[in-house]
Formats: sequence, C-alpha cells, structure tokens
Amino acid sequence: MKLVVLGSGTSFPHPHRAAAGYWLEAESGRALLDISADAPHRMATEDLDWVNLNAIWLSHFHLDHIGGLAPFLFGTRAAPQTQQRIEPLRIFGPAGFIKILQAIDQANHYRLLEQPFPVKLKEVEPGKEFELLPGLKSVTFSTPHTRESLAIRLKDKSGSVLVYTSDTGFADELVEFAKGATMLLTECSFRKNKPVKTHLELADAMQLANKCEPQILVLSHLYSEWDGIDLASDSHLHNFGETSVTSDIDREARLLEIGRAPKTQAAPLPGANIKVVSYNIRWRSGDDLHKLARLLKDDPEIGGAAILGLQEVDRNKKRSGNQNSAQILAADLGMYYAWAAPPAPKADREEETGVAIFSAYPLTNVRRLVLPHKGPGGRRRVALGATIKLGRSDVRVYSVHSETRIPVACKLEQIKAVINDLAHYGKDMPAVVLGDLNTWKPEAVAKTFELFAAESFHTPFDEQPTFFRRELFIPIDLKLDWIWLRNLESTSNGIDRTIKLSDHFPLWLVLRTPGEPG
Ligand SMILES: [Zn+2]
Ligand SMILES: [Zn+2]
Repeated sequence: MKLVVLGSGTSFPHPHRAAAGYWLEAESGRALLDISADAPHRMATEDLDWVNLNAIWLSHFHLDHIGGLAPFLFGTRAAPQTQQRIEPLRIFGPAGFIKILQAIDQANHYRLLEQPFPVKLKEVEPGKEFELLPGLKSVTFSTPHTRESLAIRLKDKSGSVLVYTSDTGFADELVEFAKGATMLLTECSFRKNKPVKTHLELADAMQLANKCEPQILVLSHLYSEWDGIDLASDSHLHNFGETSVTSDIDREARLLEIGRAPKTQAAPLPGANIKVVSYNIRWRSGDDLHKLARLLKDDPEIGGAAILGLQEVDRNKKRSGNQNSAQILAADLGMYYAWAAPPAPKADREEETGVAIFSAYPLTNVRRLVLPHKGPGGRRRVALGATIKLGRSDVRVYSVHSETRIPVACKLEQIKAVINDLAHYGKDMPAVVLGDLNTWKPEAVAKTFELFAAESFHTPFDEQPTFFRRELFIPIDLKLDWIWLRNLESTSNGIDRTIKLSDHFPLWLVLRTPGEPG
C-alpha cells in the first residue's frame, strides 16, 4: 500500500496544509480516505489518477472531511477525462452520509449521482467488516469524536495494515483497534493542553503509537500551533521507523526521509569501540547495493560499522531503477537511517541524488541542510545531520556531499554551513563530519585542513587519495573524501582500496566511545 497525504491540516485555511484527504494505492485499486474541499484539486496537483479513483472513505461528517464530495462528483459528471470511464466508484461512510449527499444534491438539482459511470453508496456500521477495495479487508471502530465518527483498519493480502484514526479523542479501545498496524495514520491536532476531549494532543498520539508500535507513524490533522515546529526531528518520534509529518503542499519536506529497518540489529554496547564508514557509493543499486551491504557486514576493513555516512544515494531516479537505496540498505543492515536530497533545479526534473546516514542507534534531531552556492545548471547540494546517542554522550554526525564545480572559496562555505549547524548543539558536542567534500585542488585540501582545525576538528587521515579515475589512460588520484572528528578520538583507520563498487574508496575509522576511559 502506498499513501499520499493530500491534506495534513484542519478546517482552518492554511498556506501549507490542506484539509483532510489521503490517497491510498493498493494492489486492487485507488481509494481516497476523506475528501475535504481541498482534496479534489490536491489529487490533480499530485498528478494522481483521480479519473480512475475506485473508492472513497468518509470518516465522519465534519466538512473538513467530506466537504469535497459533492464538488468532486459535480466535476466528474462533466469532466472530459471521466466520460469514457465505466468502472464504478464506491463511496463508503457512516450511517447517515447518503442522506446528507442527497440533501445537497436536491438543494439545486445537481444530479450528482448521474455520472458517466456507476456510483455505489454504502453505509457502514461500526465494527462491521467490508472491503473498501477488492481484497482489502476493512473494519471500522466508533471513535470518541462525533456520534458517527469512525476509524478504519485496512489489511491487504500481503498482511500490511494501515490504521487511519481520523478525528478522535483518546480511548483505550482505540489502542486495541490500532495494535499491530504497519502504518498508523493518526490525528495529532494539538501540541499540549488540548482544549477539547474529542481530539488528540502529542502525548495522546505518542501513547497510542507507543502501544501500537507501528513501523511507520504519520501525524496529521495539525492545527496551526504546529507551525514552525520541526516535528519530523522531534525526539519523541524516533522510537518508530519512518515518521512523517507531512507538510502536504511543501514538496521540499519530502526530500528528507527518516526510517529504520523492519528488524533492527542489536547495537554495539556502550563502551564498545565503534566503527564509522564514509563512502560515496556513486548511486549503486540492485545487486551492487546488496553486495555493498554484505561488505559492510563482513569486510575485514569496513565490516561491522555502527555509523555510516554515504553520498550519491538515489531514492527515485531512473538510472537506479527508481529504488529507494537508503531504505533497501537499511533493511539489509538492520539499521536506522535518514536520507536527504537537494531540491531539483527545475520543478519538472526528477529527484536529485542524496546523502544518507545509517546507524545501529536511533537518530534524533535529523536535519537536512541545503548548502549555499549553486553549481552548474542551478544544481544544489545537501548535507544531512543527525544526533546519535553513544554510551553516555550524544554525538552529532553529518554526511556531506559538496559541489565539485564551484570555486574553492565557495566549497569552503559549504563546509562552513555544516559547522554552523553544529553550533546549535554547543561547542563541546562531539561531532563527526564525513563525506565527499570534493576537494579537487591541492589548495582546497590545504584550506579544508585549516578550516576544520580552526573549529577544533582533527582527522586521522592524511592526504592519501580516496578517489580513482583513469582519464585518457592517465590515472588520477584525488583526496575527496574525509572523516573529521571533534571531541572524539580514533584508535585505528584506513582507506579500503580493495572495494571497487564506485570510483571512490570507502574510508573507515574506529572511535573510542566518548566518555569512556581510554
Ligand atoms: Zn472532525
Ligand atoms: Zn477534522
């Protein structure tokens, strides 16, 4: 099942959040969970196949959940795109919705049910099983919100479960209903001190999520008191795999992904030495990616790393089969991960390649940094920062992919942007900055040393090349990749030149756990 959040807001008009609407793609068709007045147009802006929408689920009668139903039907009645459609549209909702739809229909003789295709209306009792889409087992639960309001639980043939609470107050029975969900899509209207019992605040949503342990938690139905709050990096949320708090209209928000393997490995115990690897994987995919995962487990040099920073990691690009490489690697390695990409230089371009951090420990305060200075064609680069708890102290880790084709001074400012972000966490915060800093020229190497040294960083690596390419049969060695440390010590390090998956070589070092006696 695939879910697209069309509206993470409420009935109050908001510049970045539309009212409720969730597009669900399952094996047997397309469904819409709630249809606010914004939802019909949001389907079009997301380029979704609204023409062939098979089913609509209405959770309750508040207009931020059903206000788009009549306008949508008014549109499909006449739209050229739907004139050839023959597949029926099925609409499901609580007892009473048919009466409401008929009242609107008759108020001005709209003939909303006279469509080019059949429309089938079905009212659903609380607790009754039905199929929203063929083969998609669906069951509802009466929520403490309005008299008719229903949560829904959907299970596909593969066993994946989506629970959508819609608007609800907290109830122990809701916890039972949502248990075992693969994805929990829950309302989280307020941050704290909620003014009504018929909605959730963060503590309620967390209680629900902690008990249900979904692989993916999505918080939605957010009032404007959430504006400016970086919920995606809130430490509360990182007990779960992927947590997405979608700003539904802001595409940039989608260029940061946080997740974890369905099964995470046992992390090295605090006090154990911890291996860190940096590697520009040059968008390896498919078999190469699984091979890389095997090396990261078993290779004498890079094997057994607890923290990895990778660059050129594709998520949705044709050249790598549109595979989510970070998610695949994380699953193979049993790790937590975060991934980020720069914005595409033009809106109609495909997604850019990204950077990723993988960790045996949960990641908090995950931040995507778009680096200053555009490269050729207006291309941007990003860095990704995350905080990892190692033993008794937190360590801030950055995976950086700097631009190649800009002057050295601009490259240094890209590194500076990362160090500026680190400044938010205090001058004593132990830190690892790693990645492909694209230091092509000897001058850039020298200045990079100066810059990091001025910020109390050191590196166990000298100027040995990390990159190899033959151009016109002339071998070129370059020092492009780095691992820099602050308030951390390494016990050993190396560059693994036996691994030839990419034109870069992976770098590794072993950290002495901070706070432990050396
Ligand atoms: Zn409501
Ligand atoms: Zn609502």
